[in-house]
Amino acid sequence: MQATITAESATLAIHGGTPAVPPGTIGKWPPIDELDRRMVLDSLAGGKHAFGPNAEAFQAEFAAWNGNRYGIAANSGTAALHMCVAACGCGAGDEVIVPAYTWSSSATCILHHNAIPVFVDIDFDTMNIDTDRIEAAVTPRTRAILVVHLHGLAVDMDAVRRVAERHNLRVIEDACQAHGATFRGRKVGTWGDCAAFSSNQNKCLCSGDGGMFVTDDEALWRKAKMLWSFGETRTPSESRDYHAYAMGWMYRMNDLTAAFGRAQLTKLDGYLEQQKANAAALTELLAGAPGLILPTVPDGCGHNWYNYVLRFDMAELGHGHEPRRFRDTIAEAMRAEGVPVSVWQQFILPAMTVFQARNGYGKGCPWACAHARAVDYSLEQYPAARRHCDTHACLVTALRPPNDARAVELVAAGIRKVMEHAGRL
Ligand SMILES: *Cc1c(COP(=O)(O)O)cnc(C)c1O
Repeated sequence: MQATITAESATLAIHGGTPAVPPGTIGKWPPIDELDRRMVLDSLAGGKHAFGPNAEAFQAEFAAWNGNRYGIAANSGTAALHMCVAACGCGAGDEVIVPAYTWSSSATCILHHNAIPVFVDIDFDTMNIDTDRIEAAVTPRTRAILVVHLHGLAVDMDAVRRVAERHNLRVIEDACQAHGATFRGRKVGTWGDCAAFSSNQNKCLCSGDGGMFVTDDEALWRKAKMLWSFGETRTPSESRDYHAYAMGWMYRMNDLTAAFGRAQLTKLDGYLEQQKANAAALTELLAGAPGLILPTVPDGCGHNWYNYVLRFDMAELGHGHEPRRFRDTIAEAMRAEGVPVSVWQQFILPAMTVFQARNGYGKGCPWACAHARAVDYSLEQYPAARRHCDTHACLVTALRPPNDARAVELVAAGIRKVMEHAGRL
């Protein structure tokens, strides 16, 4: 706590004081070592650069790591999500329930298959979909619930499954941020009918870009495969007939990417352990800081701490009127201290132009499709998502390896320093 005591008396860096976190303290993500270099170079020398032996191995190893029967290596998390939507039979006029606050493609993947997102507000405390509000959004056209384990915190899957079973709905998990997060001790991606992970640059498992579809259901696996590769129906044990049986995309992962992903996968458990220890230490160091709302983890819902989210209590800080502007000022002051906070999402999903202007396939489709029911995207329906969106800032990679307890102490000191002097901003 030494750092905190010194920081309290210091001038904010944004006003010319010394930054709490010296330049060069925060190491970059992900750490790269000999194994990464060797595996990528071996793939390069191997000469099978499209979906090759590393891609085959990566999907099998990832599925085994997560506890799923089947994995399909795709070129993005969004592609894997689209495969989930298609595999679950969501199509023209079907509705899919999705949280109002998440990454845009958690919902645009539904449009990609001609189906219609129906947004449900989040629970302010968990920042995940408010499971008590899901049932009220179910209509005769609802086909699936797409839950997002946002920031790496598992959704209460018992609550989701109860609604799904009552209404005969499919459950899709967007686990793009949630590698290793657990619900009642079991990994996410094993609770729904199928799930999507991302291995984009910022995710807990990085392959540059990339995604993984996982399921335990053979029929869903076959349907997802069709979408993945040109509408073909063949599985790896069957030879291709190069015939499009249905509309397909080209979502395969290339071998160099897979080699990188495989190398990182061998280190994932260690990364997650460090990340969790760092987050726990940060929570302890920030306890009691004025104007801060720290993340909470409900019983049974495990967190991988992909993203450590701070919310500013505007009432306590005396800035109720223009929360976004004050939020931006606080974030700016933290960055000046060397704390790499960012605003993760500026907009809740239904506020985005694609939904407000219904910019889909043109001529109002898919919303104007003859099979569709009118849906309402008016923003008053999502007060918790809006409050969250306006008052948050977060740490995405600063709590990951190579950063350790020393970096966390400095980051905590920088955050406390700004909050303790917020009245001067
Ligand atoms: C990153 C992310 C995606 C998309 O993954 P890409 O690999 O970038 O396509 C989807 N949903 C969530 C919640 C994400 O964080």
